[in-house]
Amino acid sequence: MNEIEQRIAELNKLLHEYGYAYYVLDKPVVADSVYDQLLHELIALEEANPSLIFPDSPTQRVGGTVVEGFKKVTHDYPMLSLSNAFNEADLQEFDRKVRQAIGDHFSYVCELKIDGLAISLKYENGVFVQGATRGDGVVGEEITANLKTIHAIPLRLKEPITIEVRGEAYMPKKSFEKLNAQRADNGEELFANPRNAAAGSLRQLDPKIAASRQLSTFIYAIGGDGEIYGIDGHAEMLDYLEDLGFPSNKERQRCSTIEEVMAFIEHWTENRPHLAYEIDGIVIKVDRYAQQDELGYTAKSPRWAIAYKFPAEEVVTTLLDIDLTVGRTGVVTPTAILTPVQVAGTTVQRASLHNEDLIRDKDIRLGDTVIIRKAGDIIPQVVGVLIEQRPENSVPFEMPKNCPVCDSELIRIEGEVALRCVNPACFAQIAESIKYFVSRNAMNIDGLGDKVVEQLLRADLIHDVSDLYHLTIEQLVELERMGEKSATNLVNAIQASKENSMERLLIGLGIRHVGEKAAKIVSEQFGSMEAVMAATEEQLVAIYEIGDKMASSLVEYFSNDDARAVIERLAEVGVNMTFKGKKVEVVVGDNPFAGKTIVLTGKLEQLTRNEAKAKIEELGGTVTGSVSKKTDLVIAGEDAGSKLAKAEQLGIEVWNEDNLIEQLNLI
Ligand SMILES: [Zn+2]
Repeated sequence: MNEIEQRIAELNKLLHEYGYAYYVLDKPVVADSVYDQLLHELIALEEANPSLIFPDSPTQRVGGTVVEGFKKVTHDYPMLSLSNAFNEADLQEFDRKVRQAIGDHFSYVCELKIDGLAISLKYENGVFVQGATRGDGVVGEEITANLKTIHAIPLRLKEPITIEVRGEAYMPKKSFEKLNAQRADNGEELFANPRNAAAGSLRQLDPKIAASRQLSTFIYAIGGDGEIYGIDGHAEMLDYLEDLGFPSNKERQRCSTIEEVMAFIEHWTENRPHLAYEIDGIVIKVDRYAQQDELGYTAKSPRWAIAYKFPAEEVVTTLLDIDLTVGRTGVVTPTAILTPVQVAGTTVQRASLHNEDLIRDKDIRLGDTVIIRKAGDIIPQVVGVLIEQRPENSVPFEMPKNCPVCDSELIRIEGEVALRCVNPACFAQIAESIKYFVSRNAMNIDGLGDKVVEQLLRADLIHDVSDLYHLTIEQLVELERMGEKSATNLVNAIQASKENSMERLLIGLGIRHVGEKAAKIVSEQFGSMEAVMAATEEQLVAIYEIGDKMASSLVEYFSNDDARAVIERLAEVGVNMTFKGKKVEVVVGDNPFAGKTIVLTGKLEQLTRNEAKAKIEELGGTVTGSVSKKTDLVIAGEDAGSKLAKAEQLGIEVWNEDNLIEQLNLI
């Protein structure tokens, strides 16, 4: 066997194992995207070597097989799958073909693609008589008893008609979390995601189990010809289904151009975390039946619809190395160094490994093929290993006994999973706390990047944050890659930071449990650093939103002589120690922002988004990320996209940047 034959055999074996676990046992061992990636590798190899296609290759099977224990049912009309779009180019191509066939006078209907299990429901004279899974699209499994347990599925329609409808059964995120928490308590295996939990629930032989799982459903299609019900398009059909008593998803939109479709996709790519259920894409359909008929079908799917799939969130790659870094608080964090791989639209070459426990529990080794997960803005993480693909000579990974930076012995504090360096003179800890002090959300000193901080420490020019304020242009120009101009700018930025309101300093000190919000509240309430330093735990806890942990952490921090000495030195060089922001109660009700929920969108010219946000918050307004019915005002800069469209759709007041500046100047 040559290398290609070997790989094809290996992929066949893996995909059979994973497919069985997923489709038959409802206990997936890898994420779908991992399965897909391996499947695509196999498809590519088979295409290049057709003589090597196994008769039972997973590529020769369409959809899932029917599980033992349920009756098979043949669908009256096949449940076709839609072709997929993975990017804008795919959508443009789809749009071009549609326009070529039916011209420009049509509209699309966009809907959320619910990440659940496709189902078919049959009603005779208005009564629910049979429910089935999609199966392979032609033959499904009869799961009527289990579907009846879903409260959202009507047992009797509002009209005594005979009809077959299609939809998606799904498990809401909340039910999923509860179910998994319960299973963890019972020591049972956890479900990988809500879709697998929904599928597993509907394939239970005992309907009581399905009933306990709190599934729900959205219905989005009629099986067969919709025209016999006197409707002439998809949007009208959705309304009709609602009239009959079916649950339909409200987050749908009619679009007349592919640009509007893209804006809808963009909106939901951003907002899907806020939904109560998981979605994995957007479905786009040509609305009118007459035009759908004109477009027709390919062998596998309709030409009048396409499913846009969100980028894969899990992929596999190789673990090249494990990098150990020491943070501001001494915690040693292992980071995976990876063969670069595309995931969720970005190239990932580093991923979090959390801590030693994760490495040990999953037995993650150098050279392993690992599964990487990246969802939304979350830092990419290593979530698992494909043990089957492990190199033969690999050995378990051992965490070091000593700090990789200062070599002092690492310890594990009771009740914590992390290893820590507790040497207060550790270079890494000092460097990290200075980087944190100058960072954007803290003292916000421009031009003082990580490299410069390390150079300053190595050159013995600084030892703690107070030394920054003694730096001179002459000292700075001696540093590598530091010109006269940058040095001047940096000194100016450092000096300017002295004027910051005190909450920035409080953030910059990096006190445990004291984040941005807490620092602001404490500063506002006490007014000066002196007062905060003198505050007791009781006084601190008395403030709404300040908890026990924060209070004791603050008191402990300020009882430390070294910490007090640094603050004294900062005061000596003239760093402001008082709260400068306006007190919220003074301005509430006095201006057009107070008590309002405001969304900023598009590019602002005269001030940055953060500045605008800070001003609005100072005036008692709340700035949120997405437009909803609760939004009072949208401020739209240049090139505002879907948020502006949504605001207009909901009839929310919209200002441009000039309106904003004008109002701010009036206050
Ligand atoms: Zn150390």
